[in-house]
Amino acid sequence: MGKPTGFKEFTRQTEPYRNAMDRLLDYDEIYTSHNDELLNSQGARCMDCGVPFCQSEEGCPVYNLIPEWNDLIYKGRWKEALDRLHKTNNFPEFTGRVCPAPCEGACVLGVNEPAVTIKNIECAIADKGFENGWVVANPPQQRSDKKIAIIGSGPAGLAAAAQLNLAGHNVTVYERDDRIGGLLMYGIPNMKLEKDVVDRRVNLLREEGINFVTNADVGGSGENGVDVEQLLHDNDVLLLATGATTARDLNIPNREGDGIHLAMEFLHKNTKSLLDSKLQDNNYLSAKGKKVIVMGGGDTGTDCIGTSLRHGCQSLVNFEIMSIPPLDRSDDNPWPLWPKIYRVDYGHQEAAEKFGNDPRVYSCLLYTSPSPRDRG
Ligand SMILES: Cc1cc2nc3c(=O)[nH]c(=O)nc-3n(C[C@H](O)[C@H](O)[C@H](O)COP(=O)(O)OP(=O)(O)OC[C@H]3O[C@@H](n4cnc5c(N)ncnc54)[C@H](O)[C@@H]3O)c2cc1C
Ligand code: SF4
Repeated sequence: MGKPTGFKEFTRQTEPYRNAMDRLLDYDEIYTSHNDELLNSQGARCMDCGVPFCQSEEGCPVYNLIPEWNDLIYKGRWKEALDRLHKTNNFPEFTGRVCPAPCEGACVLGVNEPAVTIKNIECAIADKGFENGWVVANPPQQRSDKKIAIIGSGPAGLAAAAQLNLAGHNVTVYERDDRIGGLLMYGIPNMKLEKDVVDRRVNLLREEGINFVTNADVGGSGENGVDVEQLLHDNDVLLLATGATTARDLNIPNREGDGIHLAMEFLHKNTKSLLDSKLQDNNYLSAKGKKVIVMGGGDTGTDCIGTSLRHGCQSLVNFEIMSIPPLDRSDDNPWPLWPKIYRVDYGHQEAAEKFGNDPRVYSCLLYTSPSPRDRG
């Protein structure tokens, strides 16, 4: 168990992000490099509780064996920690960067002390694995005669592909977009998840024998359309991992006005242009010099804030429908539930540094009425 007295000796300390004003000048990841000494003391804080809620239903959705690798990294046994991590998680380099970390909300130490920095530790184990060449392609020894087509290459499709391929089946992933990764590629911006990190994993999956077909719109009738009947005929199983890319629009007056865009149009175009041409092709929606209002919070809202700031917007406000959350858990939100508390994400911090105040305006319920489109 880490260090028996670790949780008494060390306070919680997360790895810092890069300086906010510096990172606004680029689209590189916001994280600083890992600090082994810090992580070692943070791993030491794990109490190896009898019932580790961090890896239970309320905690990690992939049931990561968290206390086991906390102990291993406290002892400096990184390779073994990586092996334990890979037992439950196909892509810890993704979750270590972007998972909201419900594990930390359910950490038993969190009952009366700040939780163990589980997510930082997970990311460091994964990154060290790649740095040291421990993460290598692991193709199956034998192949079955089954053919599986997976529609969609987001994290769900990729994880299913990895597992089914490991079992020896012949897997092909079909993706409508021009790049593999789903929202890992075109939703979550570079600042949070560098696209080389996504490509690196996809290349490993390729080496393991998975086929990827891009620009393949399964069921679509356009030039990239792929016939579903044909796929059913050619494969034993069709697995749908198509995500939820349908946007939720707002029926508000003047919705049709100029300069009003859906978040995913904004973020998708930005990442594509960044990857295609470092934003030189002008094939994106620029917020440069604009007074920007981001409607809606959460990860997507924050990513729109971060992207608008990097474009050089003139001002920024973020409308949030919810009331301002409490600083600590409320009585109806006890441990080990996900803590619904006030948080400052990277985009909020950047906006505050740039413009002097947190951009969020709470309890902002916009008047809604049938739009002209709906009125016919
Ligand atoms: C802006 C943004 C930021 C986010 N930030 C975070 C975060 O920080 N942390 C976090 O945990 N989660 C975050 N999320 C949520 C996370 O990205 C999603 O929960 C996750 O990507 C869902 O995975 P998925 O594989 O189910 O679907 P997706 O990632 O949506 O992938 C589905 C794929 O299927 C493809 N597809 C759909 N239909 C077809 C078809 N007919 N033919 C071929 N391909 C098709 C799509 O093009 C897409 O590539 C964020 C989401 C967004 C939008
Ligand atoms: S950060 Fe997410 S994936 Fe990683 S251990 Fe915590 S809940 Fe699980």
